[in-house]
Amino acid sequence: MPFLEKKTFTRLTPLLDFLEFSEQNRDLVWDRPKFPLMVPLRLALKMEKNNPHCPLFLQFVPLKKERLVDENYSLEPVKDPIFRLTPKLLKKYEGRSLLLATKACAMHCRYCFRQNFSYETSQKGFQNEIALLQKNDTIHEVILSGGDPLSLQSKDLLELVGQLDAIEHLRIIRFHTRSLIADPLILKQELFDFFLQTRKKIVFVVHVNHPKELGEDLRVCFQKLKKCGVTLLSQSVLLKGINDEAAILKNLCLELFDHGVLPYYLHQLDQVQGAAHFYVERKTGLNLIEQIRSSLPGYLVPKYVEEIPKKTSKTPIFSLHAI
Ligand SMILES: *Cc1c(COP(=O)(O)O)cnc(C)c1O
Ligand code: SF4
Repeated sequence: MPFLEKKTFTRLTPLLDFLEFSEQNRDLVWDRPKFPLMVPLRLALKMEKNNPHCPLFLQFVPLKKERLVDENYSLEPVKDPIFRLTPKLLKKYEGRSLLLATKACAMHCRYCFRQNFSYETSQKGFQNEIALLQKNDTIHEVILSGGDPLSLQSKDLLELVGQLDAIEHLRIIRFHTRSLIADPLILKQELFDFFLQTRKKIVFVVHVNHPKELGEDLRVCFQKLKKCGVTLLSQSVLLKGINDEAAILKNLCLELFDHGVLPYYLHQLDQVQGAAHFYVERKTGLNLIEQIRSSLPGYLVPKYVEEIPKKTSKTPIFSLHAI
């Protein structure tokens, strides 16, 4: 099977052949999505054969349902562009600033709120961003996001963290990444070495939505990070048909902890065009959180939040009438 040699599926037919999809099930899949297909081999290997309900399949393979236009969904739900200090630096919240390190990702999640986001900038490198961070001593934490910061060339990433390391008033360098579930070996030794020697606190928030995304290979990666003193947190998006059951979410929290990771956020879906079929009602979400809270220790219950533009933080969802 020659296509297995490739590490990432970007064409539909080889992927559906690999997944042994029947003609009938193939009919559910959209072959020309605007946001292109991108499925790393590790995830394809974890998908169930010929099952269009598989929680991994649903997250990464475009369905015809994506074509549905819903007036409550927009191309840019999070309104990131209005918080740009530079094309690549956002500042929404006090003390923290978010750096769009690259627009590239190791995979394309169908619910991604940044799928239409234009990061185009002619400027290479981060000179402007570093200069701004250097000047603004109210910012004590830089969040490396994207896309996925681990999609940067290794030497560019090392250079970037080196520059951040030199900024005196920065205390924390935080990575928001999903690439580790695509390739648990993606982190280079030089980066571990940096984590070991820096005086900054390093935080990884890994994006994981379903226990099937975890595994022994990832546990090894997390252990290595922990040995370098890295704090490991996770965030998940609440997704219909994928993790909108109490048993699955509970298992996810327990498995994450077993992997050395504390659940941090459970996000309400950002309403991006094409993702309406993933939407879970707040009422359902609240009910799920209640069920998790009643059966797991408090430290394993994620904060259920949503992103409302112009709020001073992520907005906790406590009740149906909060907003
Ligand atoms: C989510 C987000 C953060 C981080 O928020 P925390 O509550 O600290 O995790 C920071 N900046 C931006 C622009 C964000 O979207
Ligand atoms: S990893 Fe994150 S940024 Fe990348 S496609 Fe998935 S949801 Fe979007």
